[in-house]
Amino acid sequence: MTEHSKTDGLPGMQAPAMPQVLERAKPRNDRMSDAKIECNACPVLCQISEGRLGACDRYANRDGQLLRVDPVVFLRRTLEQDEPRLVPFAVGDAQAPQWNGDVLGTDQVFVTGVGSSTTYPDYKPAPFIVSSQVDGVDMVTVVTEGIFSYCSFKVKIDTDRFLGAEQANVRMKGEVVGHVTTAEYGSQMLSLGGVHHLTGGSKKEGRVTVEMMEALGNKQAVELTIDGGAQLVIQAGRAPIVNGVQEQRMRVGCGSAVVGIFARQFLGLADEVVVLDDHITGVLTEHQAGRCLDMKPSGIDMRGRKSTPGRYFQVANPGNGWGGTDIADPLSIIEGWDAQVAWPGLRLLMTSTTGEHAAWYVLNEQLQPTPQDMPAAVRAIVERIGENCEPSLCSVMFLAGAGGSLRAGVTENPVLLTRAIKQALVNVTCGGAPAFVWPGGGITVMSDVLRMPERSFGTVPTPAIIAPIEFSMRLSEYQALGGHMAYVRSLQEVLSQGAWHKEGAPTALQWQPQPDANPWPLGQAPMLG
Ligand code: SF4
Repeated sequence: MTEHSKTDGLPGMQAPAMPQVLERAKPRNDRMSDAKIECNACPVLCQISEGRLGACDRYANRDGQLLRVDPVVFLRRTLEQDEPRLVPFAVGDAQAPQWNGDVLGTDQVFVTGVGSSTTYPDYKPAPFIVSSQVDGVDMVTVVTEGIFSYCSFKVKIDTDRFLGAEQANVRMKGEVVGHVTTAEYGSQMLSLGGVHHLTGGSKKEGRVTVEMMEALGNKQAVELTIDGGAQLVIQAGRAPIVNGVQEQRMRVGCGSAVVGIFARQFLGLADEVVVLDDHITGVLTEHQAGRCLDMKPSGIDMRGRKSTPGRYFQVANPGNGWGGTDIADPLSIIEGWDAQVAWPGLRLLMTSTTGEHAAWYVLNEQLQPTPQDMPAAVRAIVERIGENCEPSLCSVMFLAGAGGSLRAGVTENPVLLTRAIKQALVNVTCGGAPAFVWPGGGITVMSDVLRMPERSFGTVPTPAIIAPIEFSMRLSEYQALGGHMAYVRSLQEVLSQGAWHKEGAPTALQWQPQPDANPWPLGQAPMLG
């Protein structure tokens, strides 16, 4: 039920209780039907017929009034099971249960940006500027839904498997929506979304990009393909599915690390151990760990490029085989054995960094490795390698720049907010979740979507992403940075009246418990880079 048709005009409206800056401000145009109202909560400027929604499904025309249809999410430190979760704001509605707010300690409640409405077109104060007291100190939280064109998701995928070459394009529905970026420890990394794909390509690329970003931010699964690489299904907090196979284990370390960690346990049980890894393959007797344990050299001759003793790069190509390489037969990375050093009966373990692949060999008279049953004591160490692997997960971090418009909703002199954040005077959160603030200019924040409330993300067809952001600080600090002091309201007022501007404001609030993993946002020092 979306509508995005261009006409003009404004219906009549009641006088507001608060200083009024309208969500829709375009002067009436006689060509526009009386039944339509214009939403200017984003640059799309939908004209919405009565009973219909705007193009983003977030604003509606109900009886000639523009409403934000989702409730604004309030966090409570303690929330009883039988408490009502959804409560209408008592804004002159005789049918609505009146909320007097007197059962709440103000230090127990946090207003998030989820569902709160925006500051667009940038001159309006934020919809909620809420005062409260924490440990006797007057605090204020400035709450808004940001419209982010400059934002992306950094996705950490715990797998050794080859997903695609660094810089390879990542696609959804055939459109490029990101790229493979630098791999990290035991994980492949993707950079998804961002202004280049939102604005720099075709309309379809932008549309598919916001669709992907909204789903990923809202903890839903997305299906991606990587040019020259894997098919992927990723979802925050879930194991990745690579080429149809659900990943199980995140490796304990690189091949060299595994050799070092378990060297003492292998002593006396194996004469050589090779831990196969796409990046750094470890060879125990050559490795410093083996030398420190006085292990006898085995005479093994490895393929690949020797980096330092017992550490080999590029023993095979990346792939979905052993240790994130493309090999199925581990012996293929052994060139041979030095007949002056190796001996018949030499016991060789080959394993991957997760222990998912492992094989036991004994050299025969011709110094050829022959497969044998793995001794139980060796098997126990391989199982311990597996036990030390953590469950493979996808982690999704939202990264966004809070630009001029957002900051103007906080203060008339936006640079003062930036400075106050950098001076650790303001705590920035996204839906109440902690946000890491990057150093340098501007306000670039990063939050784990798993710590944010459900359905924190939305879209507008510009295209851009909608996401919550809150700035909490002492009231005195807010005044000092030129905050919109005339719009500061107590929590009780907010609970009983909703947002200060009525056009496009949410009509209900939703209580959610504060997630245990998150620090309480009020009274916290910011996470600065
Ligand atoms: S897309 Fe949504 S926010 Fe933008 S003008 Fe339309 S209804 Fe309003």
